[in-house]
Amino acid sequence: MTRSDLLGALGAIVGSAAVVTDAHSLEPHLVDWRREYHGSALAMVCPASTAEVSAVLAACTQAGVCVTPQGGNTGLCAGAIPRDGVLLNLRRMNRIVQVDAEGHAMTVEAGAVLADIQRAARDHGRLFPLSLGAEGSCQIGGNIATNAGGMNVLRYGNTRELVLGLKVVLPDGEVWDGLRSLRKDNRGYDLKQLFIGSEGTLGVITEAVLRLFPQTPQSAVAVVAVPSCAAALELLARLQRRSGNGVSAYELIDRACVDAVARHDAQYRSLLEQATPWYVLLELAGAGPDGALQDLLEQQLGEALEQELVVDAVIAQSLSDAGRLWAMRHLIPEAVRGFASVLRSDIALPAARVADFVEQAQGAVGRMRPTGTVLCFGHLGDGNLHFNVVDADEDRSWVHPLSQALYDLVAEHGGSFSAEHGVGQAKVAELAQYKSAVEMALMRRLKAALDPDNRMNPGKVLAAG
Ligand SMILES: Cc1cc2nc3c(=O)[nH]c(=O)nc-3n(C[C@H](O)[C@H](O)[C@H](O)COP(=O)(O)OP(=O)(O)OC[C@H]3O[C@@H](n4cnc5c(N)ncnc54)[C@H](O)[C@@H]3O)c2cc1C
Repeated sequence: MTRSDLLGALGAIVGSAAVVTDAHSLEPHLVDWRREYHGSALAMVCPASTAEVSAVLAACTQAGVCVTPQGGNTGLCAGAIPRDGVLLNLRRMNRIVQVDAEGHAMTVEAGAVLADIQRAARDHGRLFPLSLGAEGSCQIGGNIATNAGGMNVLRYGNTRELVLGLKVVLPDGEVWDGLRSLRKDNRGYDLKQLFIGSEGTLGVITEAVLRLFPQTPQSAVAVVAVPSCAAALELLARLQRRSGNGVSAYELIDRACVDAVARHDAQYRSLLEQATPWYVLLELAGAGPDGALQDLLEQQLGEALEQELVVDAVIAQSLSDAGRLWAMRHLIPEAVRGFASVLRSDIALPAARVADFVEQAQGAVGRMRPTGTVLCFGHLGDGNLHFNVVDADEDRSWVHPLSQALYDLVAEHGGSFSAEHGVGQAKVAELAQYKSAVEMALMRRLKAALDPDNRMNPGKVLAAG
C-alpha cells in the first residue's frame, strides 16, 4: 500500500477533515510539553469512535505502518511523540458516556479531558479524585496509559486504583471490551492491568469505567514551614493518626522552589515570614460538620509549632485562599522551565528513606555540580520526589553523570527512577539498566505476544528491535 493509498483509506474511515497532514497543524503534536523531543508522522488521524480506531489500526496493520496514540500531549517522558507512522489523536472521543452516581461509577471515552470528568462527577454529587497540574488538558486515556499519580494518591491511590473497566483496541484492530463496573471479578488474569501504565505500547484505550467516591465537602488547606524533611514526615504521620486518615494531599516543596515561584508570580513573595529549607502544602478533606477540619488543623499545627516540629504556618481562610495556595504548587513545573540546564527526576522512595536520600543526594550535587541549585518538590505522602537540579550555565555535560549517581542512590534505597511519569522515550535506557533481567524478559514477552510486529508506539518503554 502506498502512502497516498493509506491516507485515502484513513480518510474513508474517519473523514478527510480528521486526517491532518499539513506541517503547521501537525507541529504542536510533534513536540513534547517541555519542547525537548521532536518527532515526525505521516499524518495525525482523529477517530470519533472505537469502531473507527479499530478500522484505523487494521488499515495500519495492512500497510505495515506503526501507530502512536496521543492524548493531551502533556506527558513528561515524550511517550506521545511519534517517530514516524500514524499519530492517533483521541481528542474527538471526549464524551462522558454515563454517570452512575448510586453505583459510584462513570463511563467515559478516552479523549475526555480530566477536568471535564472531575466536573461531571461533581455535578452528580460525586468525586473523581485524580488531580494533577495538567488536568485542564490531559485526557483520561493518557492518564490511564501513564498510570498518572498526582495530588490525591495518598488517599485514593494512583490511576490504576481508579479504573474498574476498559475498552481497548489491540494492535491488529481487534476490540477487547472489558467495560465493567464490578468491584470484584476474579475470572482469571485481570487484563485491564496490562494496559494501565503501558504508555500506548500494547493497544489503544478507547473507553473506561472509572471509580467515583463520595464528595468531601469540608476541607482545610495550609502551607507550613518545617525545619527538615524528617519533621515533615513526622507531621504527616501525626496528622494521619489524628484526622482518621483525613490527609488527602501532602506536598513537599523546598525553599528554592518557593523562591522560583515567587520570581514567577510576585503574590507569593511574602507567603511565610519564617525562611526555612522546607515547606509542606497539605489538605485535610472529609464530610464532618462545618469548620471541624479547620479547627482540627489549627489545633494540630498549634501543637506542632510549640514542639518546634513546625516553624510557621498559613492556614487558608476561604476557598479562594486555598485555591491560591494550590495555584502556587501548580506553578512549580512552569517555574522550573526557565533555566539554561536542568536535571529532572521523578523518583519514588520508601517513606522511611526519604530524609536520608535527600541528604545524600544534596551531598552528591555539592560534589558533582557545586554551582547547581536543587529544586525539590513532590508528593511526600507517596514517597514521590521531583529532585531537580538547575544551573544558569548552558553546558549540559554534568546532567547525565549526576542523574546516574542519583538513580544509583535511589536504587540503593530500594526506590524507583520513575514514580509517576512513566518511561516514554526519555527513560528507556534507565529501564534496561535498573529493572532485573527477569522483569525485562517478561515485559518483552508480553509486548511480543500482543504486538508481534512492534507497531504500537515503537521505541517507547522498551528499546526498538
Ligand atoms: C504541568 C504538568 C503537571 C503534571 N503533573 C503530573 C502529576 O502530578 N502526576 C503525574 O502522574 N503526571 C503529571 N504530569 C504528566 C502528565 O500530565 C500525565 O502523564 C498525563 O497522564 C498524560 O496525559 P495526556 O493525555 O497528556 O497523555 P499524552 O502525553 O498524550 O500521552 C502519554 C502516554 O500515553 C499514551 N496514550 C495517550 N492516550 C492513550 C490512549 N487512549 N490509549 C493508549 N495510550 C495512550 C501515549 O502514547 C503516551 O505514551 C504533569 C504534566 C504537566 C505538563
